[in-house]
Amino acid sequence: SLPRVAWIGLGIMGLPMASNLLKAGYEVTGHTLEPAGLERLAAVGGAPAASVAAAVRGADVVVTMLPASPEVEAVAYGEGGVLAHAARGTLFVDMSSVTPRTSVELAEAAARKGIRVLDAPVSGGEAGAVEGVLSIMAGGERADFERALPLFRALGTTVVLCGPHGAGQTVKAANQLIVAANIQACAEAVVFLEKSGVNLEAALDVLGGGLAGSAVLSRKRHNFLSRHYPPGFRIDLHHKDMGIVTDAARAVGAAVPVGALVASLVAAARAQGDGGLDHSALLRGVERLSGV
Ligand code: NAD
Repeated sequence: SLPRVAWIGLGIMGLPMASNLLKAGYEVTGHTLEPAGLERLAAVGGAPAASVAAAVRGADVVVTMLPASPEVEAVAYGEGGVLAHAARGTLFVDMSSVTPRTSVELAEAAARKGIRVLDAPVSGGEAGAVEGVLSIMAGGERADFERALPLFRALGTTVVLCGPHGAGQTVKAANQLIVAANIQACAEAVVFLEKSGVNLEAALDVLGGGLAGSAVLSRKRHNFLSRHYPPGFRIDLHHKDMGIVTDAARAVGAAVPVGALVASLVAAARAQGDGGLDHSALLRGVERLSGV
């Protein structure tokens, strides 16, 4: 029979992911901070739990999909947390985007309790989560990865073990560098094209068919055209990820000059009050700089 899953963190990503596990036949007990998240889980057939401890009781696999390292650490190490309440032999899969160090430390602390850990952050955005076509980048031991693989297949289409604990997070950090730089470049092109008087839709059509085409350009096209930026992926979260990638790159001596520049543009967007918008709203920053 399928493993019983405890799912902690039912936000923009967690809820549709948990919902895909339910569709695949898994039993899912979930916990999240907002009562509305618990209600939505119940509406798709999951069992809401009032606490992390209650969700984790009786689970074979615990999945976390939380904002950042502090939340993952609170949920893992707190008195009512996963390490205190999960049974020996439980597989703890953290799918949040956190620092590689958080994943390495979590694996070490969990091992002392007989709990197995994988880091397994994802890419593909809200649409990828809803459609179950995420890219899943895992770090940890092969046996644990193989144990999680059927579950990952219910959530994503590209599933790769990248290396030891933290390696999934390192790959995700690189992903976030590429995505932010790509959004910024697309946003600059949009303002340049409009100021030049070129039809933007026609331009984006032909750009999308050439080497400039990308998942960013096609999936964020609607946001660029409409100037509406409902999240999606919040600028606040991308700010967190730019901190992760610039720190991790400095630690290994890798130069990321464009990454550092885009990190400061993401920080500026936040300072201008755009932190709650989708990251495609980097376009607003380019408009401000261009006097639009
Ligand atoms: P979100 O803010 O929508 O959801 C986070 C959820 O965590 C919320 O529902 C909140 O209630 C819950 N939470 C926070 N602290 C908690 C606690 N102590 N106990 C229980 N629940 C708690 O965020 P999201 O957009 O779903 O992102 C989640 C993670 O996935 C982040 O690390 C993000 O960087 C990453 N990610 C997001 C996207 C995206 O497009 N949104 C894509 C890929 C990866």
